Amino acid sequence: MATHQVLNQPPPLIDYNLFASDRALCAAVRREGAAWAADELAELGARLGSAETIEWGFQANANPPVLRAFDRYGNRQDKVEFHPSWHQLMALGIGAGLHAAPWAAPKPGTHVARAAGVFMLTQIESGVQCPITMTYGAVPALRRQKEIAAEWLPRIFSRDYDKSFRPAGEKHGALIGMGMTEKQGGSDLRSNMTKAAPEGSGGPGGAYRLTGHKWFMSAPMCDAFLVLAQAPNGLSCFFMPRWTPDGTLNAIRIQRLKDKLGNKSNASSEVEFDGAWALLIGEEGRGVPNIIEMGNYTRLDCAIGSAGIMRQAAAQAVHHAMHRSAFQRKLADQPLMTNVLADLALEAEAAMVLALRLARAYDRQDDPAETAFRRLATPAAKYWICKRGPMLAAEAMEVLGGNGYVEESLMPRLYREAPVNSIWEGSGNIMCLDVLRALGRDGGAGEALRAELAAARGADARLDRFAAALESDLASSAGDEGAARRLVERMVLALQAALLVSGSPAPIADAFCASRLAGDWGHAFGTLPAAGGLRAIVDRASPTT
Ligand SMILES: Cc1cc2nc3c(=O)[nH]c(=O)nc-3n(C[C@H](O)[C@H](O)[C@H](O)COP(=O)(O)OP(=O)(O)OC[C@H]3O[C@@H](n4cnc5c(N)ncnc54)[C@H](O)[C@@H]3O)c2cc1C
Repeated sequence: MATHQVLNQPPPLIDYNLFASDRALCAAVRREGAAWAADELAELGARLGSAETIEWGFQANANPPVLRAFDRYGNRQDKVEFHPSWHQLMALGIGAGLHAAPWAAPKPGTHVARAAGVFMLTQIESGVQCPITMTYGAVPALRRQKEIAAEWLPRIFSRDYDKSFRPAGEKHGALIGMGMTEKQGGSDLRSNMTKAAPEGSGGPGGAYRLTGHKWFMSAPMCDAFLVLAQAPNGLSCFFMPRWTPDGTLNAIRIQRLKDKLGNKSNASSEVEFDGAWALLIGEEGRGVPNIIEMGNYTRLDCAIGSAGIMRQAAAQAVHHAMHRSAFQRKLADQPLMTNVLADLALEAEAAMVLALRLARAYDRQDDPAETAFRRLATPAAKYWICKRGPMLAAEAMEVLGGNGYVEESLMPRLYREAPVNSIWEGSGNIMCLDVLRALGRDGGAGEALRAELAAARGADARLDRFAAALESDLASSAGDEGAARRLVERMVLALQAALLVSGSPAPIADAFCASRLAGDWGHAFGTLPAAGGLRAIVDRASPTT
């Protein structure tokens, strides 16, 4: 006889469409110029939300990659083995063109459409985003060396995911990683010690041999890497394939895989280069400017990825609270829970609208004003969106009560994943200092910010006051490193508010301006001022209704 009935547990959040059910996302995609992609995104959203894909995410994380440095006879092979679910997820992301579509088939809105796809992918499994993002970011850097681009871009543009470990010329598709960070310094790249010696006369496109190490090099099964090393004329950017042109395994020795807090499905390795073969990209001594181009795209993706984690955490919380009852009422109807959920939903929507707005700037590279906006808003958005992720994930977990603390719920995975976007690709302080640098140069960054805020002037008096105060902050704290976090936070809040007042329903814009701009807010989520619209905010965030 059964001991008890299982009651009052919500249905699992599976078999739903991550695009069609996300009202805020659909609206942002339209607003930022990618309405044409709605059908494709809905197809991807349905596949990602299927029970099968969600299960792949669980399996890929429960069965992390394993380093097989040697074969059974002791020969070096430097291979990393992944669970089949990892490969399924990679095939899905690459099949959707998330690694290269904006480069392979450029058209207006394509970076935005891709951003929406990545935003959905990362909700289901974030680990695969790493090689997908690095490949996307590598393309502009590779284009700086024409013969490398001519040989490799057709492979990179392929939507066939090829997991085999062979020279790239024999494969259907190729992926690119990067190695910058060394033991003695990651932010301060000029401290790199890896040495590059020319094989012949050297110079752009020439062959070199690299000797040294990288302390973090993720996705080591990529087909090639962009690597920084010290050449005779200074720090330089190199293209290092896993296999040399004569078909032998390049001397990239994987030492071990990192035992990470999260991001478990993805492999992050420590490597040594023992005279590894590589080609110089651009001039010797121009390593940072050449690789930093890649950094802009990977930073954009950190913001998109964190926005995705926030969306999924908020959606899980809303879904749970709409189905679970306590004290004779659905949790979502308990006034204090309504406030928590609305606050989470607000934060998640603000993150997403800014990430997609930023993606639009990447679509409009021929427009100097958009270029200036991109220069400023990339590090600013990366800083603030990624900074908010862990806080939101923790609070959303609590909405599920004890179930939220249990691995089967997905919430622990989101929680563990959230901090990494803030650390890699330039940690928080580095991003804020980069914003100061952008403001300090005469590249129109300050004007781009003002123009963006001016477009929303008059829509909300609190935003107008906040923007005016920000103007004096910009004057008073320009160049003040110690105040950079405060300044950047306020810039991002103003940008988010400007987007919400012009594109989101009134309750969202109103609650955001009251809490984030006018200070009518506490120090934890769930402290929005009491207003009639909170329930409408929660309903908008529901992934199933
Ligand atoms: C899971 C994972 C995967 C990674 N994968 C890769 C990869 O594939 N390739 C790669 O190259 N790297 C990779 N990294 C490395 C990552 O990019 C670096 O860890 C990061 O850039 C920070 O460098 P660091 O660890 O040397 O810290 P440091 O540079 O020592 O910085 C430590 C702290 O000091 C702060 N700081 C530094 N300078 C200043 C300053 N002037 N003022 C104020 N504060 C400052 C930083 O913001 C940071 O908070 C990975 C990291 C992780 C966690």
